[in-house]
Amino acid sequence: MRISIRFKWTFFISIIILAAYLIVAYVAYNTVDNVASATVTHDFFIKLVWIGIIVVLAGIVISFFASTAVLRYLKVVNNTIDDLNKKPDSDSRIKVRKSNDELYDLTVNINKMLDRMQAYTNQQKEFVEDVSHELRTPVAVLEGHLSMLQRWGKDDPEVLADSITSSLQELKRMQSLIQEMLDLTRVEQIDSEYLEQETEVEPLFTQVYNDFKMLHPDFAVNFDDDIEPGSKVKIYRNHLEQVLVILLDNAFKYSGDRKEINLAASTNEALLEVVVQDYGVGIAKKDLKQVFNRFYRVDKARSRKRGGNGLGLSIAKRLIEIYQGTITVESVVGSGTVFRIELPIVNSELDKNMANKND
Ligand code: ADP
Repeated sequence: MRISIRFKWTFFISIIILAAYLIVAYVAYNTVDNVASATVTHDFFIKLVWIGIIVVLAGIVISFFASTAVLRYLKVVNNTIDDLNKKPDSDSRIKVRKSNDELYDLTVNINKMLDRMQAYTNQQKEFVEDVSHELRTPVAVLEGHLSMLQRWGKDDPEVLADSITSSLQELKRMQSLIQEMLDLTRVEQIDSEYLEQETEVEPLFTQVYNDFKMLHPDFAVNFDDDIEPGSKVKIYRNHLEQVLVILLDNAFKYSGDRKEINLAASTNEALLEVVVQDYGVGIAKKDLKQVFNRFYRVDKARSRKRGGNGLGLSIAKRLIEIYQGTITVESVVGSGTVFRIELPIVNSELDKNMANKND
């Protein structure tokens, strides 16, 4: 059985007032009874009954209005949530009261939670839209090639070979797109255990540098190593490697005739600074801010030809930000591009001092 809070409050507050009144009235009546005549006591009793009725009625009215004021506010909260249940993308929010009390804190918190949830669902929606849009092209290309194969491929060996090669290329592209999309969603849900990991800087950079030098023998790859031996950064090793691979891959992909890449890493007491520089096509000023957005490619056709999906930099940025670092880019069209990363160094002496201070 549903009993309204208003009824419960009114009932209980009235009972408490009545009980308190009865005790006071009983004590007063006994005192009067001991000292006064029977008529005076009787008059006093009648008065006590009337005052009792008035006190209980006043109690009922006051508790009814007090609970109504709070309930009216809860109703506003309820209506807003109802509104959002019916229309999840509606931007209706609970009207915040001016008074600085618990209800004010409650509404501010609920509104903040609604903002966060809405931003999250919008992000998911945009992601699904972006993904469907990105998959449409390779699927259409594949369908075209397969239809061509079905019509003419059986009789024409040239069409057969071309279509199979193109279909396989398109499939590979879809594979890399799916892998990068998975990487991106994984980055969004990094476990907190990774956030406590530390990575020694020098061995990782040496390994990545050697790998790229071997993979691109036609390039002059320089490594300016100014890393304090033994220094560590607070990031999971594979995540830092993933970021370096993304930036170096891009540097190779978007290099022009000048096949030269500079990788530089330096440490001080607070930061690891990384620079990845190429002398390639560059990025126009208007595109610079957007290159970190999901699926953003400056030149869609060129990026597609080089196997780009427009996800690498958004993954790199997200990763670096999760570990409290920064990533920035400078570029001049036709002259080249410089990506810069800064990550906090694990300063064991400083950390030890801080820990001692806290003890
Ligand atoms: P993609 O997989 O397409 O390379 P990214 O997210 O890594 O995706 O990069 C986004 C876009 O930024 C690229 O499509 C390219 O247009 C531009 N870009 C990234 N790195 C460079 C670079 N080193 N030189 C020139 N343009 C770059």
